[in-house]
Amino acid sequence: MIKCMGCMEEYSEKKQECPYCGYPQEIKNINPSYQTPGTILSERYMIGRAFHQDSIGISYLGWDNLIEKKIVIKEYFPENIAFRIDGREIVSEPKWEKLYETGKKAFFEETQNWGQLGKFHGIANVYDQMMQYGTAYYVREWVPGRTIREIVERENPVIFGQARSWMRQLIQILLELQQAGRAHGNLSIDNIVVTDEEIKLINFGMRVNDSKARGKLFEENPYIPREIYEDTELFWQKADVYAAAAVFYRMVTGEMPHFQEKRIRKEKIKAPAELGVWVHPETEKGLMAILNGDPKRKEINLKKLEQIVWTANQGMREKNRKREESRNYFLPVFVGIEGVIVVILAIILILVW
Ligand SMILES: [Zn+2]
Repeated sequence: MIKCMGCMEEYSEKKQECPYCGYPQEIKNINPSYQTPGTILSERYMIGRAFHQDSIGISYLGWDNLIEKKIVIKEYFPENIAFRIDGREIVSEPKWEKLYETGKKAFFEETQNWGQLGKFHGIANVYDQMMQYGTAYYVREWVPGRTIREIVERENPVIFGQARSWMRQLIQILLELQQAGRAHGNLSIDNIVVTDEEIKLINFGMRVNDSKARGKLFEENPYIPREIYEDTELFWQKADVYAAAAVFYRMVTGEMPHFQEKRIRKEKIKAPAELGVWVHPETEKGLMAILNGDPKRKEINLKKLEQIVWTANQGMREKNRKREESRNYFLPVFVGIEGVIVVILAIILILVW
């Protein structure tokens, strides 16, 4: 039996490809940027198929040989300044060596922080980390489910009520992270997984404190306005709020908000109503104030976002209910007043006659 590098199931070596996922036994024409499938880390973890790449690095499906469990391995690989030799070792371009090392250190330290967080329900937990093959890696929990990207590829836009319920869970996770003194820092439709019971966040962000390195590493998340990358502290406070609002907009309108391009052209991001999508007026107003406003504003925080997405709708429902109740309550009174007026008019008419 051999282990499939595409899905980590086992199958007979007589077969050319995996009967479960179709991944070939002998892999040809692999992307030269990717680590060779079957490579072992810390004499324990096996690297399989690469399934995602961003400005931070590459995510691989993996296998923990010790506890025999599916895992995910994330590798630090800033593509613009580094490359891979012989399908294994990563080296930087000589002129970017210092920047590469700064990023690697930031990656390792950030990962360490997440590892210390312990078990946290809304985040794919980090189990281990290591430096090998000229780069840094972390091992995290494998989360079965579909990313928001996979969902919007099939259903675009997402039904408002569904999007709002995921947003409620998302904001709850972000608030809990905030209480633990952390922020995700890299939210996008790729990094939110919807499982059977809940949503889980993967691929947390990395920041470098070194201002010279900043601007060249880890800054390509289109859901985070560029302005807030400028200040590390502000970044951690604001990135989640803006990215969450942008992800919500993406889900309910079916369109990307594209902050940077719009700001360069001094254009406003279109409100859902302009795109023919009905969103509660208060939610729309609040959402557009975030997306079109200055991302550095103090008053925009997770609680405010929660109110915009959830409480505004809840409050409006309450108001409608009360209005209906009060209408019912006043109805007999109105009938009464009208009755009295009719009687008085009748008396006046009789008297006049
Ligand atoms: Zn397979």
